Amino acid sequence: MDRSERAPDAAGLKGGAPWTIVGQGLAGTCLAWTLWERGEPFTLIDREQGGSSRVAAGLINPVTGKNFEPSKGIDVFLPEALRFYRKIEDLLGTRFWHPLPVIRLASTPAEWLKILSKRELPTVVPWLGNQGRPLEPIEGWSGAIALTGGGRLDTRTFLDCSRDFFLSRGIYQKSDIQTEPPNPHMLWCEGARGLMADRYGAHRCAKGEILTLAASGWDETHIRIGAGGWLVPLGGGRFKAGATYEWQQLDDHPTTAGLARVSEIASRLGGPEFEIIAHEAGIRPILRRSEPLIGPLPQGGWMFNGLGSKGSLYAPGMASRLADWLLSGIEPGEEMDFRKFHPQGNA
Ligand SMILES: Cc1cc2nc3c(=O)[nH]c(=O)nc-3n(C[C@H](O)[C@H](O)[C@H](O)COP(=O)(O)OP(=O)(O)OC[C@H]3O[C@@H](n4cnc5c(N)ncnc54)[C@H](O)[C@@H]3O)c2cc1C
Repeated sequence: MDRSERAPDAAGLKGGAPWTIVGQGLAGTCLAWTLWERGEPFTLIDREQGGSSRVAAGLINPVTGKNFEPSKGIDVFLPEALRFYRKIEDLLGTRFWHPLPVIRLASTPAEWLKILSKRELPTVVPWLGNQGRPLEPIEGWSGAIALTGGGRLDTRTFLDCSRDFFLSRGIYQKSDIQTEPPNPHMLWCEGARGLMADRYGAHRCAKGEILTLAASGWDETHIRIGAGGWLVPLGGGRFKAGATYEWQQLDDHPTTAGLARVSEIASRLGGPEFEIIAHEAGIRPILRRSEPLIGPLPQGGWMFNGLGSKGSLYAPGMASRLADWLLSGIEPGEEMDFRKFHPQGNA
């Protein structure tokens, strides 16, 4: 990190007003580090309640979904994210990115055929392990294939260590920002809470439930994806399993239905014997699939939101693009520009 300790803990390095980042989830934290690195003054504020980043498993899986498709822009965003996490790890002396190979399991012959049909696409090939060859048959599954480039961001460690760093420099505050007069220096990174307040037009936020488990004898060397869910090893016989998708009941209360569904995923991917250590719920901030947006707001200030299910992958790269825009006027591609997504909000 260029900035070392030369940066001011107070405002005014470049003569402008300091920025205020509202929200210390993945979006706000990555933005804070990016401004820190560029020597820009800011305050980082969080109400310290809720927030899906603290619930997330932090999984990055390069080729996802029923359609077995690479995440949009992964060839650019993944290297950016890994460089970013490595830099912050070195600065804080803590490890929170844990690379792990992924095994994608197909539940049905149709799903397996779909995976096989995509296997030779130039966009998929770079992410295939085992030279693209299917893995040995695994009982109970129609097929299995290995993926590289994946892993787990320990989001809580990343967020807590970052908060402590900024707190110790007097630029972190616990506060719940309710209303603000228009201010061009406000950077709104409030996740689902901001979307559900209807500040950015229609949203598709989705509640998700997740379990932390203890199990002995399960494979701890791979992330397993299949049966509509995933199983992520944490080390020491612990795992995270998830997740549900629910679009109507948007709260962060764990439910018995969620418990049953995620337990079923865990049994399928790990095995029948496990102990549940924690059951949590959060709300994914979704505007347009898991494709985040940044941009100026008509009422003043800027937004960074819509990380969806892929905050670990996209937050560092989007923070960098927002900083380029704020500090140098360099606009991102149209597909990342909130004004293009919601033109009436910016008339
Ligand atoms: C069950 C579940 C599993 C997931 N698993 C993964 C995964 O494996 N991999 C992955 O990449 N993503 C995953 N996600 C998605 C991931 O959590 C999100 O993409 C990401 O965390 C969103 O980050 P954010 O900073 O935009 O929002 P948040 O994490 O919600 O952060 C917003 C912050 O702003 C604060 N805030 C809001 N309004 C105010 C205000 N007015 N004043 C002060 N503070 C405020 C909130 O308290 C919160 O701390 C998962 C999500 C869920 C729910």
